[in-house]
Amino acid sequence: MGWKVTELERKKLKERAKTLFCPFEKCRDYNKVDRNNILFITKYGKDEHMNLYQCKTCKRKFSERRGTPLFGVRLPEEKFYQVIRCLVEGNGTRPTGRIVGCTKDTVTTIIKRVGKHFDAISQVMIDKYHLEECQLDELWSFIQKKRRIWKS
Ligand SMILES: [Zn+2]
Repeated sequence: MGWKVTELERKKLKERAKTLFCPFEKCRDYNKVDRNNILFITKYGKDEHMNLYQCKTCKRKFSERRGTPLFGVRLPEEKFYQVIRCLVEGNGTRPTGRIVGCTKDTVTTIIKRVGKHFDAISQVMIDKYHLEECQLDELWSFIQKKRRIWKS
């Protein structure tokens, strides 16, 4: 116990809060990023490696992973975004899986996830992975196309 969050760390967590969204469906700000509604509360868990956040809109608390598009995807963040990169570069689901080293099913899961949380993911892709808006537009149309195929 007694973990002190340094000034720098606090700043990073604040920045991070901007890429998170409220994971509670009944909340007015559910699934929306950049609303300034997410607040960093504390660190917790073994070695205090988990971050706890709170939504100011509905006052509920949630773990960082729950409020990110990665929730439930058993893949490290780096790989998750690597998959997106490969897709943006025009690779199909099978080649993307080969390049990144995951199954085609995982790639499919990620595509679905990206479709659901496109705003949050776009923000991270621009800020952290330096993708351009036009690349994200392409990604969006790729996802739409896939969705139509899956539905039919
Ligand atoms: Zn909320």
